[in-house]
Amino acid sequence: MNDEEKRQKKRESDKKYYQKNKDKCNEKSKKWCEENKEKQQEYQKQYYQENKEKKEKYRQENKEKKKEYDKKWYEENKEKNLEKHKKWYEENKEIAKKHSIKSYEKNKVVISAKGKNDIITCECGRTLRRDGLERHLKTTIHDKLISNKQI
Ligand SMILES: [Zn+2]
Repeated sequence: MNDEEKRQKKRESDKKYYQKNKDKCNEKSKKWCEENKEKQQEYQKQYYQENKEKKEKYRQENKEKKKEYDKKWYEENKEKNLEKHKKWYEENKEIAKKHSIKSYEKNKVVISAKGKNDIITCECGRTLRRDGLERHLKTTIHDKLISNKQI
């Protein structure tokens, strides 16, 4: 008997059971039917509740299992992953290096270009453009101002 046949048989027996009980219910008093209905509802509620708890428990257990499994996998593959990462780094070192040099050079240009037009204040008190600082430090004005400041 395959699954489909099993299901079919189950459906038939359920139907039969239902018919049988329906007749029974009709035979008996209305009160009995009502009581039975309530019982049935109670039973279904209980069944639902139990099922819910079971599901939750199963979910919780599975979560723990998954966590454990992940941890185990990580432990088992730690060396492998490290090795993989190392290999990747070795293979990509040159590219990474080139990339960082490129970005450094790009940034250097940006920094110096930005700094060139900056107006800065020298320690002597003079304000000047940053690209003129080097020249300014060698001037007598700067020396004079510095020595005046120190007095
Ligand atoms: Zn100065």
